[in-house]
Amino acid sequence: MNSYDVVVIGAGNGGLTSAVSLAQKGLKVLLLERHNIPGGCATSFCRGRFEFEVALHQLSGLGTPDKPGPLRSYLHGLEVVDELEWVAMENLYRIVLPGKLDLTLPAEKDALISVLQARFPAEKESIVQFFDMLYNFFYQVIQGFFMRDPEISKEKYPLYFKYALKNTQEILDKYFTDSLLKLALSPYWAYMGIPTSHLAFVDYAALMFQYIEYKPFHLKGGSQALSNALLARFIKHGGEVRFNCAAKKIMVENGRVTGVITADDDIIACERVVSNASTVVTYTELIDAEKVPEEQFEIMSSSTIGTSAFTVYIGLDCEARDLGIDESTIFFYESADPDQQASAVRSLDMSQDPFLLSYYNLADPEASPPGTSQLAIVNMAYADPWLQVPPAEYQQMKYHCADTILNRVEELFPGFRDHIEEIDIATPVTHMRYLGSPGGAFYGFDQYAKDSNLFISPRAPIQGLFLAGAWVGAGGFQPTLMSGGAAARAVLRDMKK
Ligand SMILES: Cc1cc2nc3c(=O)[nH]c(=O)nc-3n(C[C@H](O)[C@H](O)[C@H](O)COP(=O)(O)OP(=O)(O)OC[C@H]3O[C@@H](n4cnc5c(N)ncnc54)[C@H](O)[C@@H]3O)c2cc1C
Repeated sequence: MNSYDVVVIGAGNGGLTSAVSLAQKGLKVLLLERHNIPGGCATSFCRGRFEFEVALHQLSGLGTPDKPGPLRSYLHGLEVVDELEWVAMENLYRIVLPGKLDLTLPAEKDALISVLQARFPAEKESIVQFFDMLYNFFYQVIQGFFMRDPEISKEKYPLYFKYALKNTQEILDKYFTDSLLKLALSPYWAYMGIPTSHLAFVDYAALMFQYIEYKPFHLKGGSQALSNALLARFIKHGGEVRFNCAAKKIMVENGRVTGVITADDDIIACERVVSNASTVVTYTELIDAEKVPEEQFEIMSSSTIGTSAFTVYIGLDCEARDLGIDESTIFFYESADPDQQASAVRSLDMSQDPFLLSYYNLADPEASPPGTSQLAIVNMAYADPWLQVPPAEYQQMKYHCADTILNRVEELFPGFRDHIEEIDIATPVTHMRYLGSPGGAFYGFDQYAKDSNLFISPRAPIQGLFLAGAWVGAGGFQPTLMSGGAAARAVLRDMKK
């Protein structure tokens, strides 16, 4: 029987980074991945002469060598940051509510405030006060929470205690009256998967602060380049990887991990496992139910499966900027009402959904062959309505939904449809299939505060089991990449004991 110090299940962001961290420490690590390529969501696929980015739109927390964000320092430690080409975006996004709002927000605090003040002069003072509060609040989060101040208290960190768990909409309502201004500041809820009416302010502030301070980044070669670089580093440090090789069982004896059985019935002995598969799959499929503490099922039953997406990947036979598409990231809305936005994404009627249009060639002219453009349209979507569609009608429904979205894009950028050379469509069912996650969810559970990394540990309630990825804390690139580091540190602490 083969034996390893650690088996890592899943080569998504969390699995790859934990595998590299552990291999760097000289541990004997085996990485198992059910798919045939590394990355999970952080991957790409080819159609015709285009290679489409699956998931990455705007990387947060990176910063520049002169002003590194937490992610740059972390990736530097994993020895991959310098071999990749990162491109900063100068703007956060353009936001469009047809006929009412069309505004581009710069990724620089003073410039951002000026743009907002020029468009909403009646709320000039409130805009400054809001950003002062947001920055002071987040400095308190960094000092009190991230730096683990042992003397953390209400008196020392008043803003943190007052606002962290409030819903974002309540705070936007407190500072502003114009619903269009509130909308202009809201679209990053899509990167957490829950609307501002339910999004904890600490999560909203983290997104805004990091994107403004460190700018959003694009990566040349897409997220697949990062996944490949992490895998190469893992192998260089002696790690072993098996693709097309799912873990079928995590063996547990007397409350301790003893090994892993692969889908082809290879038994691997190990005392520690890092699972990058969803928590739901880990506890309900990979481990026999009687070996999972009852309490774990109770905890999971109070959470809900988070959002997936409906995505249209498009290759145009022209430069998209010639059609008026002038920003890397454009958010489209049909309403300024956050409750309307939240309910719209729950149905198959895509006529009212907010969506994001990413235009990759602006940051990276080589994102597609010369004279062409790579774009992706993404809207939040849940698997439930898709699973109600009879299989015989699935393709038709998929094309109908894409047609609705494309018509909305066409209204804003006439001629768009005529230039589509390649197109492919992913529904939540697609994401279920290639990720193996329930509902095709890629941010884990709905990101309510109780399921955020304020409260979740990478240590599972079974000895030797550790978790990495979107299901233990926040989803998205930066949090899941960093979650692998947290899992690896927990493994190393456990080994020292
Ligand atoms: C369309 C789309 C758009 C997105 N947009 C953004 C964005 O703009 N910004 C952002 O920050 N984030 C975005 N995300 C989310 C982000 O990509 C994910 O949150 C993150 O990549 C998830 O990483 P993870 O570590 O949880 O692993 P995952 O990517 O979920 O990977 C888990 C891996 O485990 C493997 N696995 C599962 N079960 C087993 C098993 N039994 N045995 C072996 N292997 C197994 C899977 O095959 C998979 O490779 C987007 C995602 C998608 C799909």
